[in-house]
Amino acid sequence: MQHLQSLDKTHCWHPFTQMREWCAHDPLMLVEGEGAVLKDSEGREYLDGNSSIWTNIHGHRHPKITRAIRDQLDRVAHVSFLGSTNAPASELAGLLCALFPPQTLTRVFFSDDGSTAVEAAMKMAVQFWQLSGEPKRTRFVAFDQAYHGDTAGAASLGGIGTFHDRFAGHRIPVDRISDPADLDKLPGNEIAAVVIEPLIQGAAGMRVWPSGLLRRLREKCDETGALLILDEVLTGFGRTGKMFACEHEDVIPDFLCLAKGLTGGYLPLAATMTNEKIFSAFLGDFAELKTFFYGHSYTGNALGCAAALASLDVFHEENVLENLQPKIACMSGLLEELKQDPFVFETRQCGFMAGIEVRRPDGEPFPWQARTGGRICEEARKHGLLTRPVLDTIVLMPPLCTSTGQLAIAVDAIRCAVATVCGRE
Ligand SMILES: *Cc1c(COP(=O)(O)O)cnc(C)c1O
Repeated sequence: MQHLQSLDKTHCWHPFTQMREWCAHDPLMLVEGEGAVLKDSEGREYLDGNSSIWTNIHGHRHPKITRAIRDQLDRVAHVSFLGSTNAPASELAGLLCALFPPQTLTRVFFSDDGSTAVEAAMKMAVQFWQLSGEPKRTRFVAFDQAYHGDTAGAASLGGIGTFHDRFAGHRIPVDRISDPADLDKLPGNEIAAVVIEPLIQGAAGMRVWPSGLLRRLREKCDETGALLILDEVLTGFGRTGKMFACEHEDVIPDFLCLAKGLTGGYLPLAATMTNEKIFSAFLGDFAELKTFFYGHSYTGNALGCAAALASLDVFHEENVLENLQPKIACMSGLLEELKQDPFVFETRQCGFMAGIEVRRPDGEPFPWQARTGGRICEEARKHGLLTRPVLDTIVLMPPLCTSTGQLAIAVDAIRCAVATVCGRE
């Protein structure tokens, strides 16, 4: 393992990572997982406290998902979605649409990850307006602190300064708002689409929207004719307590973007869902050039689709959403206790996701350069919890299969780590 760790330090470049710090230590190497637990190369076990960067839903090595991938592998791993189709992709498209009321979201465009799901929606929106005789509708509207991915188009929508400001000169123009009412200040007939992370902004530090905001946004979009893109890359597949966040406020978007949890967190796969009105605008003779000229090599990947089908099965067979409700209540109780800690400034929860923000006891933030949140997460490892912060907000978002006992251990690990790290300040 030593050899592999040194190869990593010599040749890998990790995402969102200061590589000088990374190379100063031996990297954590994860070798196995089972349920909500991951094991490292030294045999130590950890609770997967952020669901392997927000992807894992039913736990690692779930027999049903593992078998589905193996069975598909015995047939074929990947075939082109340009010029042919495959069984798991067709079946998955049907099942995804069936999760919504009839005649609402009826079309699925597959891609590879959250960023591409968002980019596909953006391009569809622009082309839709061109094809519908409103070519002036080109503006995108996104929220303060938004995060929609890292590819250039999706990053244009992002509103997090540290990630996005550097590329400001290379952006698709975006109007930024902090409330649906702000749409009144913009020329409504020039807006192509408005995009939001419904109910909760993840990368902004688990910021929960006021209840009713999503509903109001839908109504504003209806008033101005702007299309509504919901980025459910994080919130999809049970995280909020319902299958999709938009169900909480009875909102149906024009585009719904799914990725992270779509395959249960086993393989990269994304979906951009839309309705028949958008879809039909692209229909015509070839020579009319209405075609959506967009796609990726691995679109509709059969292994990913097989994993996604199995994950949806697990939701039914194991009554996942029903069993999740008491766990959400348990998380609330544990967070309530954690609030007693003088360094815990605020806890924010949405379904089975939480952010725990630490500050000095007088309410002043720690200097960001101190990396307090990062050091708390490193300390929490010693207590059996793996997670990552957003600045000084510790993310607690384990797989939906996590037991209440495991949850209590995770919160305890955070409590101990906060005491050790902040006690020292
Ligand atoms: C992670 C995330 C994305 C980007 O997904 P990738 O698969 O990392 O490209 C987009 N939107 C939201 C809300 C996310 O949390």
